[in-house]
Amino acid sequence: MCLLLKGGLVVDPDRNSIKKADVLLEEGRIAAIQPGLKAPDAQTIPVEGCYICPGFIDMHCHLREPGEEMKETILTGTRAAARGGFTAVVAMGNTKPPADSRAVIELVKGQAEAAPVPVYPVGCATKERKGLELAEIGDLVEAGIVALSDDGNPVMNSEVLRRVMEYSTMFNLLIISHCEDTHLSAGGIMHEGYISTLLGLRGIPRAAEEIHVARDIILAEMTGARLHIAHVSSAGSVRLIREAKQRGVRVTAEVTPHHLCLTDEAVMTFDTNTKVNPPLRTPEDVEALCAGLRDGTIDVIATDHAPHTLEEKDVEYNYAPFGISGLETAVSLMWDRLVAKGILTPVQLAQKMACNPAKILGLPERSVKVGNAANLTVINPQLKQPVRVESFVSKGKNSPFNGWELLGWPVLTIVAGKIVMSEGKLTGSERS
Ligand SMILES: [Zn+2]
Repeated sequence: MCLLLKGGLVVDPDRNSIKKADVLLEEGRIAAIQPGLKAPDAQTIPVEGCYICPGFIDMHCHLREPGEEMKETILTGTRAAARGGFTAVVAMGNTKPPADSRAVIELVKGQAEAAPVPVYPVGCATKERKGLELAEIGDLVEAGIVALSDDGNPVMNSEVLRRVMEYSTMFNLLIISHCEDTHLSAGGIMHEGYISTLLGLRGIPRAAEEIHVARDIILAEMTGARLHIAHVSSAGSVRLIREAKQRGVRVTAEVTPHHLCLTDEAVMTFDTNTKVNPPLRTPEDVEALCAGLRDGTIDVIATDHAPHTLEEKDVEYNYAPFGISGLETAVSLMWDRLVAKGILTPVQLAQKMACNPAKILGLPERSVKVGNAANLTVINPQLKQPVRVESFVSKGKNSPFNGWELLGWPVLTIVAGKIVMSEGKLTGSERS
């Protein structure tokens, strides 16, 4: 099966260039890139005016299986990923039971065999994510994890985290840190500031995140571990990571689309879909996050896709669970809010959503280059349409972006040479 993408704009982060060319895909690989390609046997797909990017990877999502299949399954979550333009996802380990054993990792990998996009599992850093004893890290590595994390929770005990980091260096394994001092954040449901005071809601100060960012950087510096800070939300965290990188600490970081597109003002609607952890912060924080993306302090944009049922979110703000269903809006939000507004170039977006995640996770290089695996995300920058949660294939309809009219949408997702999404519709033989 050959595919010929005709007349697209090939995004090449290696050369920091965009050039008009046809792309021929053969046997799961990129076979040729040049203008005016002819391939009579290939299925030709016109993509004039569309950007052909290296395949996007979401390096932070919650697929909920095993244990909470009412919220999402590996199949529905990966279908949502394909629909959202992602060619691979990294699944966090806060499932029920948690991914602290070889058996759970093997179950995830087994379920992922029927998935439209590959799933890379994260193993827990500590047993049952309790932060007390190290998980069987050697076993988890053998089972095929790409990183360690107790995400959803921090490892509160610094001595335990030190040992996790020391152990991780034996495998050069990435540690993904959910940075939150849970004593400082206890009972909080939104950013602590003017608006939380106005609304009379309990706040979570920036310090709850920043103290852990600082601590984890210090421990990474001491142990030589590879540290990745998840969902950075505050200006202070960006500053700490920038300084650490300048000192040569092995630290990388990610930001979510919702922390870039919303502020704590959104909570004034009392829409429980604005309840996220870490919380939505202030315009100054958003500005610092954008600056961090531009100067390379923040390496990655990741969704932190956290699907919940309608019943769970349809309660008072206080009682709703934290999280947004993000896989099907991330790429479009980032195009509309960052690329179309000139904050990031298309090349930079491809770096943050494809090349850097692959590099940090130790996956094969993501770039549109002859010989590479044909993992591609094609974006139509002219397509303008509203977000409709009722059309989500994710079981999670919990999105604060419902109804937002966005410019620039993924229109093709190609995994190993096979189209898994075209014009917003899933294709292929996977179960529906
Ligand atoms: Zn987290």
